[in-house]
Amino acid sequence: MKRVTITIKKPQESYDIVIGNDLIKDLKKYIKFSEYTKVVLITDDNVWRSWQQVIETALPLNTPHIILPPGEQAKNIDSLQIIWKKLLDIGCDRKSLIINFGGGVIGDIGGFAASTYMRGIDFINIPSTLLSQIDASVGGKTGFDFVGIKNLIGTFNQPNAVFIDVQTLTTLPKREFISGFAEIIKTGLIFDKDFFETVTSKNPSEFSESELIKIIEKSCDLKSTIVQMDEKENGKRKLLNFGHTIGHAIESISLETDKPLLHGEAVSIGMVAEAKIAKEIGLFTQEEATIIKEKLQNAGLPITLPNFSTESIIKKMKSDKKNSGGHINFTLLKKIGDAIINQTVDEEVIKKILNNVSMEQ
Ligand code: NAD
Repeated sequence: MKRVTITIKKPQESYDIVIGNDLIKDLKKYIKFSEYTKVVLITDDNVWRSWQQVIETALPLNTPHIILPPGEQAKNIDSLQIIWKKLLDIGCDRKSLIINFGGGVIGDIGGFAASTYMRGIDFINIPSTLLSQIDASVGGKTGFDFVGIKNLIGTFNQPNAVFIDVQTLTTLPKREFISGFAEIIKTGLIFDKDFFETVTSKNPSEFSESELIKIIEKSCDLKSTIVQMDEKENGKRKLLNFGHTIGHAIESISLETDKPLLHGEAVSIGMVAEAKIAKEIGLFTQEEATIIKEKLQNAGLPITLPNFSTESIIKKMKSDKKNSGGHINFTLLKKIGDAIINQTVDEEVIKKILNNVSMEQ
């Protein structure tokens, strides 16, 4: 059995991310459950359906559970009220532990519940989607959607530990798996050309379990290096936003249609468009922009914009909380493996590229 542990070091806090296969069944080896007054599991319907037996065996006998409906629509204040109330009914106090087992939605909402209940209690994340394993597992962001705005309310709060079990990916729908790969490819594009070449060397589903563990480890490691430099996203952490300025806008427009894009799918299209923008302003080469497009396409990710009006995309970008003063802020590539933050781009250039990306097939 292959296992890797990364320690996230911070001056006051550090926590381990343990990565491996068949890890869940050994949770008792890692977590001193007896030190807690109560242990509560938070998960969603889909994860519970596939993993109930495994997780129940791994946790103390009769661990109470809170099961939310799957997906983003559960990431709201109503779910939090249910969680807080249930924690109280169960008799949780400051010495209780929450285990969040699920994708990014469960990690974000369960982490927020843990950081607010009685001013904060311990929590452990067991991310079960590729996206949550390589992205949400590092950085300590928790939160929920409010008045239609994604992640409007939230905290920065680190978990006590993260357990990444690649076995959980065996029940993940293929589309979700491929979507998670977009963020892995992004990590290579902004930090490490060799890693980009490795992760795009074959189709995502062709990687073996041990290769996948190495890929997840490297992604978490690269992200943690940045997060430790800039926990609150004032500077270098913005590097991670490559592909996200356009990606977020089209993701949120698509959510209002009958063909919603998954996060990684929107980021894939965003990366293609933002690579073109970088080329257009003379920062990046056409050759590398083409490589990015082809590699994303080979991974099974979308590379063309849905039929959204350019105006609606620009409007969404301007209202993004990451932008301010009517300016649209980009993280752009200088070359594969090297990115630059805080790039404001002339609106006419953005429009030209958006028109282009949507027409190309
Ligand atoms: P998700 O949690 O909605 O999971 C996607 C789908 O997969 C759901 O239907 C879920 O039920 C199902 N699922 C999860 N694990 C499964 C498994 N092992 N087998 C079968 N089905 C499974 O979404 P996600 O893509 O994991 O995460 C997206 C969310 O994460 C967004 O809300 C986003 O804002 C948040 N996020 C947070 C961070 C952070 O740093 N905190 C980073 C990235 C994304």
